[in-house]
Amino acid sequence: MKRLFVLLAALVLAALAPAQRPLTMICEATFPPYEYHVRGGIDGIDPALARIVAACLGRELEVQDMAFDAVIPAVSTGKADIAASGITVTDERRRQVLFSVPYVQAAQVVVVRQGCDIATPEALRGRRIAVQSGSTGDLFVTKTFGDPERFQNVTFAITAVLSGKAEAAVVDQEPARVFVAGSQGLAILPEPAVCETYAFAFAKERRLLCAQVDAIFEAMRRQGTLERLLERYFAAGRSYKQDKAALAEALDTSDLLAEVLADEALRARLAELAATGAAAEGGEAVGAWQRFRETLHLNFVAADRWLYLLRGFGVTVEISFFAVLIGLAIGFVVAVIRATHETQGTLAVADFLCKLYLTVIRGTPAVVQLLIIYFVIFGSVNVSKVFVAVIAFGFNSGAYVSEIIRAGILSIDRGQMEAGRSLGLGYLSAMRHIILPQAFRNVLPALGNEFIVLLKETSVAGYIALMDLTKAGDIIRSQTYTAFLPLLAVAAIYLAVVSLLTCLLGLLERKLKNG
Ligand code: GLN
Repeated sequence: MKRLFVLLAALVLAALAPAQRPLTMICEATFPPYEYHVRGGIDGIDPALARIVAACLGRELEVQDMAFDAVIPAVSTGKADIAASGITVTDERRRQVLFSVPYVQAAQVVVVRQGCDIATPEALRGRRIAVQSGSTGDLFVTKTFGDPERFQNVTFAITAVLSGKAEAAVVDQEPARVFVAGSQGLAILPEPAVCETYAFAFAKERRLLCAQVDAIFEAMRRQGTLERLLERYFAAGRSYKQDKAALAEALDTSDLLAEVLADEALRARLAELAATGAAAEGGEAVGAWQRFRETLHLNFVAADRWLYLLRGFGVTVEISFFAVLIGLAIGFVVAVIRATHETQGTLAVADFLCKLYLTVIRGTPAVVQLLIIYFVIFGSVNVSKVFVAVIAFGFNSGAYVSEIIRAGILSIDRGQMEAGRSLGLGYLSAMRHIILPQAFRNVLPALGNEFIVLLKETSVAGYIALMDLTKAGDIIRSQTYTAFLPLLAVAAIYLAVVSLLTCLLGLLERKLKNG
């Protein structure tokens, strides 16, 4: 009886015990052949290697996609078990994460338009260079030639070269080969800018997992499976020109996995690690206050990083200010046209155009409009990016402002217009002197709200390599690999500006009320 009870209890406990959660791997998945989206998920060299690691440890694998400059901060703060994103081993990064043994030799190469006069990496001095924000290409160019144009990922950096926004891009070799194969008129310089190695990265205290991955990579190197896996993906990437479907489906690597799993020596090594290694996990103790002070120094004082925030703040204010002006101008015109059409029945064509504008602008995200204006509308002309952003956000805001003002106009009693007209004022001057001032006062709170939204909306300006406030935080984060402080600083600055704006609007409202 007692034995039966114990057995039952054990069964219940086993059922209640949490199932082993999957091993999570993070990457920035627009980086073929290392990681890219395929039908039904993410594949590439890193996911394939991580699948083998997970299988060796008897775990499932979950692959997540995030911005590259967030990958190292995320893994070092425990958001994922493994960061595997074609990550180059550097001493700076070693301070934040543990690296496995390298699994591949890689390089940063220079991508130019065919027939361009840049022939060697040295010739990049003084040129407009595009990079992926936070990559080793970015670090190399920043150190050697000064601030480059920083884009979200390799695709955008190469698109910038293709569309003439930049003269060259410094990016990772194999992804560059895939993109160059996939587009026309680009070339890669034969001489690489820097040679480097890639490895998996882990949070500092994950020493056991790191040792397990080391054991697996070393076994794979010994077996030759690592070499074969790399070759298989490289070949798919390079044949992309002839065969666009080469990267559309996940590659089959089950034969390699079977070979790794069958390796006796590896199995013994992993068992040994599991038995002795668990004790090795756990971080070294550094005082919290001391750690905080160091991080503060690293993020804002060292290398004058606060300057990024200052300059970014200036750009954000500049874009927002001019966009508000453009938005107001467009908003007034559109609102008057539409209100006139509604009340007088005239201006049918203009009204139709305004509606079209409202539909398109309100129906698409601001960041998409920004990218279209930058890469398509101003594609082949060389305009300042601040100007592009002002236009994009101004036109975007105009749509919302116009609806607010139209509501204001319609809220004014019709009798007022009639009174004005009977005093001998024309329609437009009655509108200007009687209706609009009152309408403006009524909608001021709603307008203020729109300006606040606009200010924060400009935070996507980083997509066109503009260094606004948000991007400044991203750049700091990508250099220091710390997640919290740059974000908190950026948030605090936005909050301060918005509070100030709210205050000013309150003052204006009170003033208008009194006279
Ligand atoms: N190898 C480069 C780096 O580590 C870029 C990697 C990537 O974009 N995924 O910085």
